[in-house]
Amino acid sequence: MTHSFPILSFEGRQTPFYYYDIALLKETLDAIQAQLKDQPTWQVHYAVKANHNPELLQQIAAAGFGADCVSGGEVQAALDAGFRAKDIVFAGVGKADWEILLGLEAGIGRFNVESAAELRVIDALAESKGVVAPVSLRVNPDIGAHTLAGITTGLAENKFGIYHGMVDDVAREALSLPHIRFCGLHFHIGSQILDLHDFAALCGRINELTERLESEGIPVGDINVGGGLGIEYGHPNSLPKADFASYFNTYKRGLLGDKPVHFELGRAIIAPCGSLITRVLFVKEGMAKRFAIVDAGMNDLVRPAMYHSMHRIENLSSDGPKTAYDVVGPCCESSDVFGKDVFLNECHRGDLLAIRSAGAYGQSMASQYNCRPLAPAYYSE
Ligand SMILES: *Cc1c(COP(=O)(O)O)cnc(C)c1O
Repeated sequence: MTHSFPILSFEGRQTPFYYYDIALLKETLDAIQAQLKDQPTWQVHYAVKANHNPELLQQIAAAGFGADCVSGGEVQAALDAGFRAKDIVFAGVGKADWEILLGLEAGIGRFNVESAAELRVIDALAESKGVVAPVSLRVNPDIGAHTLAGITTGLAENKFGIYHGMVDDVAREALSLPHIRFCGLHFHIGSQILDLHDFAALCGRINELTERLESEGIPVGDINVGGGLGIEYGHPNSLPKADFASYFNTYKRGLLGDKPVHFELGRAIIAPCGSLITRVLFVKEGMAKRFAIVDAGMNDLVRPAMYHSMHRIENLSSDGPKTAYDVVGPCCESSDVFGKDVFLNECHRGDLLAIRSAGAYGQSMASQYNCRPLAPAYYSE
């Protein structure tokens, strides 16, 4: 059996729980910084919604990254973890007044504004505070992403951003409002994107739009290209880090000019660092299937039920012959399934299974459905 888990220290623990590999997180952050060495004006903001666990946020803040937030709660979590306010960017189609005020009072670096209506509210709230709000406009570039349904965000039919053909008027309005400082453009086309052509297509749209706005006398100070880089869910051991070199090279090649560029990576930073550790409660021989019934459920990790996503699953306790199991949770939903026909070393009651690559959109999306307690987290080192 080859796995990197401290199995002995797991044995006495109450399951399920999240386990985070802090060494891998640090290696990942280093790998990103190595790609940015020759780009002093480029900055990566970690997407807090991928995982807002304070221990992880502190590590990422201490490494010098910024934060990308989509709610007032996330802005507060980022501030609490030590991210500098000026390195915090705040997106979201529906920012409430208290969330905008929190950002203004903290002095965050950027509001990524998604409609003309929101722009006017921010101007009024900034006036009430006697400040000027730094704003970028989130553009809907109408670029499809080749990824799971439900996590594209950059198509005209998605709710996000200002349609690219309509951004000129909103930018002119931003320039005219006394409590708004218009800084640039923001984009984000989706998540779990492994086809880098999608990002190249985004570059094309950004270049075209920037050129058009500047020819109309609208200065575009900087560009935020969002996040969305995917990871190899099938190969957590051989490919533990995303392909950051190819990702950043796509932008180095694709973007014209030398404007500062902001990135908002979530999944690619944190997904590989986390596993959900769960125990086999029962093995059940069904009519057509053999089930491994585990003590983690869709409330702990909702991605398989919500996005039909696939996580690699490993039996940490057994060397027995590989057998196909449907790995299912205890929640009263037929969709509470972590994997169908998964080949696992023979399972027994009490075996520990690792559901890999669960660091992103795992703990942060957990709920207490079925009155189940929230799974705790443990860390390597
Ligand atoms: C979710 C989100 C991200 C991060 O997406 P990942 O796929 O996790 O990299 C970045 N920017 C915005 C605006 C988002 O909503």
